[in-house]
Amino acid sequence: MKRIVKITSILIAIIFIAIGVKIATLGEKIDFSLLSKFVYHDDLKNEKSVNLKYFGTSCFAFTYNGETYLTDPFYSNPNIGQLLTGKYDDRSDLIEKFLGELDDVSLLSISHGHYDHCLDFSSFVTKYDDSLKIVTSQSTLNELNPEIKKHPTWQKVPINDNKNEHWIYSKKKNFRIFPVEGFHQPHFANFVLASGTYNQPLGKMPAQVWQWEEGGTNSFVLDIMNRDEIYVRYFIFSGGLKEQGKAKLIELAKEHPVDILFAAYFDERHTDHPLDELFQLLQPKEIIMHHWNDFFSSPYKEVRKLRNSKIEKVLIEKSEKKYPVSVMMPFTEINL
Ligand SMILES: [Zn+2]
Repeated sequence: MKRIVKITSILIAIIFIAIGVKIATLGEKIDFSLLSKFVYHDDLKNEKSVNLKYFGTSCFAFTYNGETYLTDPFYSNPNIGQLLTGKYDDRSDLIEKFLGELDDVSLLSISHGHYDHCLDFSSFVTKYDDSLKIVTSQSTLNELNPEIKKHPTWQKVPINDNKNEHWIYSKKKNFRIFPVEGFHQPHFANFVLASGTYNQPLGKMPAQVWQWEEGGTNSFVLDIMNRDEIYVRYFIFSGGLKEQGKAKLIELAKEHPVDILFAAYFDERHTDHPLDELFQLLQPKEIIMHHWNDFFSSPYKEVRKLRNSKIEKVLIEKSEKKYPVSVMMPFTEINL
């Protein structure tokens, strides 16, 4: 018996060390001499346009005409120790300045339930409108239930495998989003980590990294509206589309073209083909890549990249093929 306990403990220790080593080597220094020419710079003079703040990974805040649409709230980049213990530092000082400038968030979408897409859901709470609409899978609504239930006036809008597909409008109707059914690209080989689903509302928030279950993955078409007209159309892409989702996207793009594609790009092996395919399909005027930054490294230090994103090399190659690619640096803003 003692022997079994000993062997099991050694095995568990090895697994933890292996996870630690894997995470520690996921990031890499950026060659800024190559990257800088692709960084989207803006002098913010064009005040009447859409203000876009970027907090790293897939977290964007679009502000237009007095209201804000927020995506995948995550910016705090916890380290391995925090991910394994589930005890996270308060790093809200990183977004304080931005929150001060942000109009109320009346619409929030979350592509899926992994921690790097919703861990910081509560950090934006002072900016959430009383009638905030939260658009995500039923599983992710269940996952975030302990926080959501504190605010009975918020509206939960579950995405049910697009059976209820329709445009979802923000309070003042400056934004509308259309969920497009997708899937999660593998973390390694054909594996998606924490790929489970929560079928019941949780009683307490997930803590350790493996408790943040995917629960289905979606992308979103975003229209920014001027009165009842489409001012611009964006597509916020999470990395994979199911055939049904792709068909819907093609149909929507026929009605109105996609001006800017926001493309998740975390691993050249898995995210390159979908980007090529979408570029051919949509012919957007601009492509802004996201989810390429190393979200395991300290957000107080210089930005690093996910090693497998090969982001500088990819940007150079794509621009040579006339793809209008760019990136935003985390904690910066532009006017589109
Ligand atoms: Zn994920």
